[in-house]
Amino acid sequence: MLGVYVHFPFCHRLCPFCDFYVQTKFDQSLIDQYTQALIQEIHLYQEYGWKKENEITSIYFGGGTPSLISPFHLDTVLRRLQKYFPFSDFFEITLESNPEDVHVDRAQSWKRLGINRISLGVQSIDDKQLKKLGRSHKSKDVYESMRILRKAGFENISMDLLFALEDQSLQDWKTTLDRAISCSPEHISCYQLTIEENTHFDKLVEEGRMKLPIDDVVADMILRGREQLILSGYRPYEISNAARKGFESTHNLGYWKGHPYWGIGVSAHSFQLNNGRIRRFQNPKNLVSYVQSMTHSKPDYICEDLSPKTLWEDLLLTGLRLEEGIDIKYYEKKFGPAPKSFLDNIETLCQSHLVYKQGNLTLRTQHIPILNEVLHRIFTPSCEAA
Ligand code: SF4
Repeated sequence: MLGVYVHFPFCHRLCPFCDFYVQTKFDQSLIDQYTQALIQEIHLYQEYGWKKENEITSIYFGGGTPSLISPFHLDTVLRRLQKYFPFSDFFEITLESNPEDVHVDRAQSWKRLGINRISLGVQSIDDKQLKKLGRSHKSKDVYESMRILRKAGFENISMDLLFALEDQSLQDWKTTLDRAISCSPEHISCYQLTIEENTHFDKLVEEGRMKLPIDDVVADMILRGREQLILSGYRPYEISNAARKGFESTHNLGYWKGHPYWGIGVSAHSFQLNNGRIRRFQNPKNLVSYVQSMTHSKPDYICEDLSPKTLWEDLLLTGLRLEEGIDIKYYEKKFGPAPKSFLDNIETLCQSHLVYKQGNLTLRTQHIPILNEVLHRIFTPSCEAA
């Protein structure tokens, strides 16, 4: 079981809240060179510790803006993966796209390539908010992109939305969610806007020129939004993700359940279990260094063998985001014992914030807005339940 993430770092412009590694100055020649580097990385799979028998269960073209890449380049990458690895029967291939990049001919080409899931970077369905977020699409483009994708035959579409935006009220957020639900996507992801260091939004907040909703309003947005999704037939299977039955993201579930994944491309991360070795590695963060390392067939990644503490921090961090929670006994069999201090803190927190449900440890719904605080208590020696 292997999830493959392919990173395309190109964007027409930098959104004011984004701190991903993106390249806004590029031409076709750079895209060609970059795609060649991706092909070379796949060709060198053994140097990264991957094996021919690793069955690929999902591929995710993310970025950046992979919808800017020609179907020819996407096809080249897919074919190269298919050359070396078996694809599982229930196979998910996702492409991230901005609504304004969805055109009839492009959507039809994506479908022909075998892409069977589109993740639309909608962010908001409110033109004022879209403008503030620096997006180039308008609400009408969201509806139009959905129409084109359906006509091209896509039956699995996800929408990414952002909440806790500048001057956004609970009612504004509920209206955006209603508009998204009215488009009937199979999957909706709702992410809280976080102010990342050194972004334009960070500067605005620092200078007092941007007012974000207070914590209580944000907590209401999380909990009321969740209820709204449930009432509309979506199951919030993860804190930020809800899906109609059978449309949960295979690829993202792999991350949250501790399955191996291979991140291909500049700055991409991987997680690997190999002969008892559990490791995480990351490709160079700079496009030129990445392309050069691949041109010389010399993988240049930073590799870290995970200590039990780091591994269990990661497992709890992702597992507690899931509605089904985390099966600690199963993970102990797979990865070795959890640190005793974590288990002691979990036991204490089971009186207040956590609960054991059918062998799984889950977060109580009302504490979803304070997951980070709960995790902090688990990871801090001699935590006191409040
Ligand atoms: S389109 Fe996505 S990746 Fe590109 S700058 Fe905007 S938020 Fe970042």
